[in-house]
Amino acid sequence: MIRALIDGALAALLAPSCAVCGALLDRPLDGAACRTCWTRVARFSPPLCARCGDPLPAERTAASVGACCAVCSVDLGVIAAARALGPFEGTLADLIHACKYGRRPSIATGLGRLMRDLHATWPERVEVVVPVPLHPRRERERGFNQAALVAAALGPPVCEALTRRVHTSPQAAASGAARHANVRGAFTTSREGRHVRGRVVALVDDVLTTGATLAAAAAALEAAGPARIVALTAARAELARR
Ligand SMILES: [Zn+2]
Ligand SMILES: [Zn+2]
Repeated sequence: MIRALIDGALAALLAPSCAVCGALLDRPLDGAACRTCWTRVARFSPPLCARCGDPLPAERTAASVGACCAVCSVDLGVIAAARALGPFEGTLADLIHACKYGRRPSIATGLGRLMRDLHATWPERVEVVVPVPLHPRRERERGFNQAALVAAALGPPVCEALTRRVHTSPQAAASGAARHANVRGAFTTSREGRHVRGRVVALVDDVLTTGATLAAAAAALEAAGPARIVALTAARAELARR
């Protein structure tokens, strides 16, 4: 009731608009993006590669349930399996851009909620979630770590088991091999790392592209002795077309 009144007052006084499509928000307390944009997020549906999570061609369903796609195009290192909500394009890409570069942390929380709804497609029951950290300098610039906000909305307990000790140059322009060289050794375990020992851990990030960042983070996390490491991301970029 009070929330509805505040929403109404904010909508009338400030006329805030959706960070993605620009439509007026009738419920600004629900976050920076409108309900229509959230319903437009394209999601992967089975059959998925058991390892990288990329969608498999439909004709392979019967023959290869649980199979790996023939050409996993990501190097996941010690990560057992990865899953993403959907492809990094359209509304999902717009939401992630608005979150990171338009500084709309509420969008990261919304992404985490959507990923929680896809629990049935996670590779296994996750006991602890570990966000991929930003370097402290980058986090200060942005004001938040989007991966930490996504992780907090997923459901299982969050453990900030990693720290980023190297301020790497932005990944956006680098090729696959360059990305792997760029982030190798960038992460180390924090004191919180003891909470992942013997557990199934999900590393959480906003986007999976070449796997370089996640693989480097997983390599550091491995030292803390988890039972298994999987990866959950909001989006999958540079998806091979086949
Ligand atoms: Zn919108
Ligand atoms: Zn694959």
